[in-house]
Amino acid sequence: MDEVREARLSISVYSLGEHVEGQPEMFESLASCFAFALQRFAQHDKRPLRFLFMSPEIEELYQEVILDHSRRPRNFGELPDATVRVHGDNPACGDEIHLAVKFDADGGLDDIKFSGRGCAISQASASLMTTKLKGKSREEVTEMLRAFHDLVTTDGSEAPKTLGDLRVMQGVRKFPQRVKCAMLAWRAVQQAFEQGSGEATVSTEPA
Ligand code: ZN
Repeated sequence: MDEVREARLSISVYSLGEHVEGQPEMFESLASCFAFALQRFAQHDKRPLRFLFMSPEIEELYQEVILDHSRRPRNFGELPDATVRVHGDNPACGDEIHLAVKFDADGGLDDIKFSGRGCAISQASASLMTTKLKGKSREEVTEMLRAFHDLVTTDGSEAPKTLGDLRVMQGVRKFPQRVKCAMLAWRAVQQAFEQGSGEATVSTEPA
């Protein structure tokens, strides 16, 4: 008798563009995603797969800096002596962040680390944010938060030089769903300052 085995294959497909429908190159990509998934499955590799479609229009989102930070996130890990921990999620995309912050005696940001998982934009934004905010005073963090929010939401606004590498995130403006990805880590750090100590949660969607 033939051996019967149940097979399950999990594939997640993400599209950064607004529509996949009517875009032949997207369907072509989807076919190659599926072929790759089957190949992995045949090799008994059951790790979940995630694919990200890139259309020429959104490629500018993925400049070298973003890719570098999403692949090798800075300040990633645990902070055992954290003053506040904030757990943030962005249900629209499936991004999660666990932010740990240690305040100094003056309420400034002595140390900051994050962990979690999510799309390249959310990971890169969190990584870039931690490198920028570490060692900053409360006032400086508040100012940076305002400037970054403007950068990713306000058309035509001039990106201030103080934002440095964070200016590469400007491209998310054109994609409202991606703004949530980019803002997740920032909402978490804002919550950390409001909370002051202990633990908190934050979400990009209203409760
Ligand atoms: Zn995301």
